[in-house]
Amino acid sequence: MESSQPQNLESLRPAILNCTLCGLARTRNHVIFGEGNPNAGIMLIGEAPGRDEDIQGRPFVGLSGQLLDKILAACGFTRNEHVFISNIVKCRPPGNRLPSTDEASLCMPWLLMQIEMINPKIMILLGATALKYMAGSDYRITKDHGKWISISDRLAIPVYHPAALLRDPSLKRDTWEDFKIIFHKYRELVDPNHHSPNIK
Ligand code: SF4
Repeated sequence: MESSQPQNLESLRPAILNCTLCGLARTRNHVIFGEGNPNAGIMLIGEAPGRDEDIQGRPFVGLSGQLLDKILAACGFTRNEHVFISNIVKCRPPGNRLPSTDEASLCMPWLLMQIEMINPKIMILLGATALKYMAGSDYRITKDHGKWISISDRLAIPVYHPAALLRDPSLKRDTWEDFKIIFHKYRELVDPNHHSPNIK
């Protein structure tokens, strides 16, 4: 990386918050930089900000975010300590439509820089869009959730997006099994003393 480029996560913030690279800049209220521990062992990658996130300027703060927080808490994880949360695109697509391929491509360098700077041991891909743009179109969330994949020598695992769990609560059982896998990998790679009363 050249010396003129940002060297740490915070120095990246102004550039991202002022980004106008794609058309989503015209309709957003906030750019959602992401939040959490800049040295987190886990990075969560979602799809895009929604209405609540666009209003508040924070990732995963609506109903999906509340469910995500519950799942993380059940694993003994908190936003502040154990994870950093980001998205494939950092501005809200109007009407919560899927981000276009162009929008995702234009925004991807920001996410890749965040990944480099945070250097997580585990990346959790939340839902089909994160899986598609991080791992490629050959993967399917329905068959690949809960399986480890390597992305540029980094360990990643797709899980259902919390919004999918809200639409179809029957997916919660599989998702809890997937997060138990993540819990054990976290103990193996990051902190052998990490514990949760909910997981043996
Ligand atoms: S979505 Fe990403 S590329 Fe598009 S304006 Fe926002 S920060 Fe820039």
